[in-house]
Amino acid sequence: MKRREALKGIALLPAVGALLTKCESPNRHNLQKIRGEGPALHWDAFVMDGHVHVMLRELLNNTDIGQRYPDGTVDLPRAIKGGLDAMFFSVYTPEEYYPGRFETKHTLRVLQLAIDQIRKNDAVIEVALNASDIERINKKGKIAAFLDLEGGFDLEGDILVLRALYTMGLRCLQLPAHNTTNSFIDACSDASVWGGINDHCRNIIREMNDLGMVINVAHASMDAIIQTAEASRHPIIYSHGGFYSIVDVPRCITDEAAKVVAAKGGVIGIQFGSAFNNPLYDEWRRQGQPRSNSEARRASSPPVFDLPIGEHNTIAKIDEHLAPQMPMVFRGTMPDEIWMHTDQLARVIDYGVNLVGEDHIALGSDFDGWPELSRDMRDISDYPQITIELLKLGYSEQRIRKILGLNWLRVIREVTEGK
Ligand SMILES: [Zn+2]
Repeated sequence: MKRREALKGIALLPAVGALLTKCESPNRHNLQKIRGEGPALHWDAFVMDGHVHVMLRELLNNTDIGQRYPDGTVDLPRAIKGGLDAMFFSVYTPEEYYPGRFETKHTLRVLQLAIDQIRKNDAVIEVALNASDIERINKKGKIAAFLDLEGGFDLEGDILVLRALYTMGLRCLQLPAHNTTNSFIDACSDASVWGGINDHCRNIIREMNDLGMVINVAHASMDAIIQTAEASRHPIIYSHGGFYSIVDVPRCITDEAAKVVAAKGGVIGIQFGSAFNNPLYDEWRRQGQPRSNSEARRASSPPVFDLPIGEHNTIAKIDEHLAPQMPMVFRGTMPDEIWMHTDQLARVIDYGVNLVGEDHIALGSDFDGWPELSRDMRDISDYPQITIELLKLGYSEQRIRKILGLNWLRVIREVTEGK
């Protein structure tokens, strides 16, 4: 079904009209306008983002993703406006929860909140457990949420905890505990303890293969990425990042590792921030400027495993500490002359296409995860800007469709349905 037909379907649902009316003051007859401007191809193509931060602000600030926030970069009304058909609905368990070993508890509650809020907003979004679900949900004119986790689900990698998360509907999981090396895999921004991955990580990979869960190696060390690809029976993904050849920070993937992910049939999602994609910004930052919010935060916090468990390190105290930091948006400033336009992102995408081929590059914005956005992208509603820039590269319609979403759909189908 073409999107416009699906939109007609959406227009018939009173709850959606009510939701949008509340947020955008439209009426049901101008939904096309609500969906935003942009090239026809954007509105016709399947658009899926590989990494969108959700539920941490909803949890800590007691809000609902169905509302149109005055700030931040993600909510459902703006995702609709940006033409998103599906997204990796990425819940996040940050480092702050690790010292007290609250990572499993936090993961459970933030995942449960995702399930609750998706259900509450079921006029516009539904959970997708596989690729066929994504298509079925889209046919109804709704956004498909593919549940994904960033950060540690359990620093020891308990297989039964992993299976419990699968039972709840989680279908993609990042192996490293965000920027922290855990008991089974090295993170790219932390000490190499395992020289990549260890045997327990191979057990986890086997279990995820058996379950049909997508393995995400974003934030893993390059050795860990290469070894994970070797160990996995299925394609793996690198959901969000840039290329080390363009900006040489540890969070960017090397050409060698990118080729290994692609050779396995996997997909690399290009993150939207300057820190990973804009060499001018990186150069400026290296001249003593403050680093990105997350790095600055990490640099200023005590080593993760050194904090005592006690009254000052309860999960409630950590929530209290994190709540004012929501939403997770870049709050720094940068000089005008180094602030990139979206064409720079297109150049990074083009680098990836030349390196590994058009079947292995996609988008992983990291909206609401601190990306230093380009001038012409304020939030997720500006998604059509990407399509505009891809068209300017002279790319074929088919290539653009793959990058906008079909590559994610293919890898999800292979992993979740064994096709
Ligand atoms: Zn990340």
